[in-house]
Amino acid sequence: MLGGIVLLATSCIQGHAPRPRPVLGEAPVQSVYHPDRRDYASFLVAFPDLLEPNYLPFMAHRFERASAQGDALIFCRWSQSQMPIAVHVNLPALDESVLDEFLPVRPEAYVQASIDALAIWERDLDGLVRFVRVETPEQAVLQIRLVGERAPVPVPNRQRLGAAERLVDACRSLGWDPDADRMRVHFELPELVIHLADEAGFLPTSIVRRLVLHELGHALGMRGHSPSPGDVMFPRLGDATGREALSVQDVNSFIALYELPQGAHFGDVPPDGPSPRPAPEPPSGGTQVDMAPYVDARRGFEISVPASWVHIEEPQGVFFSDGPSWDHAVSLRLFVWPAPTIERFMACCAGGLLQGAWFRQSAWIVVGGRRTLQLRLEDAAGERAIEWLVVELGDGRVMMIATESPVGYEAAWRPWFQTCLASLEIWPLGRDEVPVGSVSDPSTSQEGARRWDSSSER
Ligand SMILES: [Zn+2]
Repeated sequence: MLGGIVLLATSCIQGHAPRPRPVLGEAPVQSVYHPDRRDYASFLVAFPDLLEPNYLPFMAHRFERASAQGDALIFCRWSQSQMPIAVHVNLPALDESVLDEFLPVRPEAYVQASIDALAIWERDLDGLVRFVRVETPEQAVLQIRLVGERAPVPVPNRQRLGAAERLVDACRSLGWDPDADRMRVHFELPELVIHLADEAGFLPTSIVRRLVLHELGHALGMRGHSPSPGDVMFPRLGDATGREALSVQDVNSFIALYELPQGAHFGDVPPDGPSPRPAPEPPSGGTQVDMAPYVDARRGFEISVPASWVHIEEPQGVFFSDGPSWDHAVSLRLFVWPAPTIERFMACCAGGLLQGAWFRQSAWIVVGGRRTLQLRLEDAAGERAIEWLVVELGDGRVMMIATESPVGYEAAWRPWFQTCLASLEIWPLGRDEVPVGSVSDPSTSQEGARRWDSSSER
């Protein structure tokens, strides 16, 4: 997945591996499912009005089936008869050995952060989910358990701050509906566990709000994670920690989950794995771009792309693709990063981004009067051609423009990218635009030491 080269750690892109089950003798070999746009296209035939962009396939729960069709991927969430969901949030006892007298924290503030997260889900999903707060754990269907201690570190440098307990068993099958292509299911998730401190001490309430927001996404029925770093349901706590709202893709995906029939059948995981992907094809038609540009006022740029392409916002910019963000033929990604020179950016930040890629060639060029480093690469599998333009903006920032296309078709797609880039306008850095902070590494900051959870790794 070439998106992985630029901002994502490959391990962030979750597949749907089957849940472990007790076996006698040798464990059977089971296939891993990665969401596929062909399955999504088939699903759209039955449900053509889904809001896009979305990461719906990553929300599905997998059920083993003794069938030639293989395992079933099922959408599962609370039913309307279970609303409002009774939620209890405990007042946490804070570990005194972690407390810092110069940075006082109040346990009530963490409770409020959790309540704020509940309110954000209610508001952004237009009332499709509703919560009611209850006074005792016994009255609750869902508990948010705030733990005033340092989070566990299950693997080195990866703190597990939040967890949706028993997510693996949250969706229970009640058998197939004989009259429709759906499974009768019951969804219930009893507890979210949020640790309030990491190795640096107690967390700011804004981060706890983000943590609860993320875990509530699992509690509302999402089995996997979003592959896009701008989403609340992305598995790592990256630079988007200041964002207090769900992304467009988060909202679209959960509205779809709650508007689809309960237990809707997304597709199957064949016992022998997915069918081979069709060979890439050259682009068809002309290289027209949309008249209305995409405007990123915060980062200070605008660009036009073909009208049929979709976009998702990311922490440092935007990602365009000619299909779902998680499975497409070509993509164009722009992001802006604080670094005074290209050399500084490459020295501090490019290492992680280049990991696993094959180098083809590099050149110094001028783009729009700006000093630019052009890099041509290939992904680790040798399937995708990548081109980077690292542009020095002259105001303490660099812009990274990354394009991807199938190997062998890069020349055919290049005019498309060139047409898009001809429309690119970059504005001078203004007061309200990105602050020039310390230069840090976008790859490691995305992977980060802080991990939301590992509750839905399969
Ligand atoms: Zn998660």
